[in-house]
Amino acid sequence: MKKIFFTVGPTQIFPTLKKHIFSAIKNDILSISHRSEYFQNLYQQISENLKNLFNIPKNYHIFFLSSSLEAMERIIQNTVYKYSFHFINGAFSEKFYQIAKDLKKSPIKKILKNKEDYNLKKTKIPANVELICLTQNETSNGIAIPIKEIEFLKKIHPNKLIAVDLVSSFPYPKINFEYIDMVFFSVQKCFGMPAGLSILITSDQSIKKAEFLLKKKISIGSYHNFINLKQKESLFQTPETPNIFYLYLFNKILKDFKKISLEKIRKDIEKKAKIIYDYFDDHKILKPAIEEKSLRSQTTIVINTNKLPSEKIISKLKKYGLIVGTGYKENKNHQIRIANFPAHKISWIKKLISTFDRII
Ligand SMILES: *Cc1c(COP(=O)(O)O)cnc(C)c1O
Repeated sequence: MKKIFFTVGPTQIFPTLKKHIFSAIKNDILSISHRSEYFQNLYQQISENLKNLFNIPKNYHIFFLSSSLEAMERIIQNTVYKYSFHFINGAFSEKFYQIAKDLKKSPIKKILKNKEDYNLKKTKIPANVELICLTQNETSNGIAIPIKEIEFLKKIHPNKLIAVDLVSSFPYPKINFEYIDMVFFSVQKCFGMPAGLSILITSDQSIKKAEFLLKKKISIGSYHNFINLKQKESLFQTPETPNIFYLYLFNKILKDFKKISLEKIRKDIEKKAKIIYDYFDDHKILKPAIEEKSLRSQTTIVINTNKLPSEKIISKLKKYGLIVGTGYKENKNHQIRIANFPAHKISWIKKLISTFDRII
């Protein structure tokens, strides 16, 4: 039976991906050199397509990393002398904080507990904080921080850098880069690709910080420090041999997004999320894990299975070829997670919902 993956990443591949994989083989992408003109042209195209599509300022930089955990590590290494500040809304923001600790910085955390805490501008952030870190969409529990709340931070703290993990929501949130210095995301979530490539978008202010740290003789890492990345970027190259195959696919998906239009992609995500939330809001047993509607993720939806073990529901859905995710870590057995990415068609969401109706 043909399977449809609603898992939160890796997930269902983007419908055009297969075609792009064949075209990569046909065009010898798997054999070309990363020092060739072809590659430089590909890097330049990705950079321009991203900047045009998402209104990214011209002086921002586009770097390619191997994962989003790597992006967290590079950000801390390159922009923090001592103090980073972390809003904690789930396991991935906690990871960001932990990485700062592992790198022997002195991170500060603020745990977001109730609705009022998400009014981020009310949080007192010490003057000596250099970088503020946020996970906009917590894939672990289905909480999403409204982008406007994040943008307020830069207005109040213009001299601090702001880094935002948009790994499982980009391109859904509309971002004004005037207020955000660093954004990163992985391609195995909303881009419907295999895992192993993360895109980091950084302001010039962030690079200047790395230069400052280097002058102070602070380690900013080696081959993937911001200065090396920027220097190679100026030639449309990368310090290491990158995954050219994935970069080729990523560029193709970007072009597909442009063709479909971001507006339609965003509207469809909202339409599908509404179908899912409406259904579970009215369900007798299964309920959305996040009650507060303004904090509900549109792209990674978490459902409490209450007295039904999630494993049972997951295996019943599997018989219909529908693959949904378990809860994260300690919630493995009593939550399920449903991805609502651009790859997921409305008709599939409807099929998933009607199958829930049949099995429970
Ligand atoms: C998946 C995920 C990550 C980790 O991404 P990798 O590519 O596996 O490093 C980080 N943050 C969030 C919110 C995620 O969903």
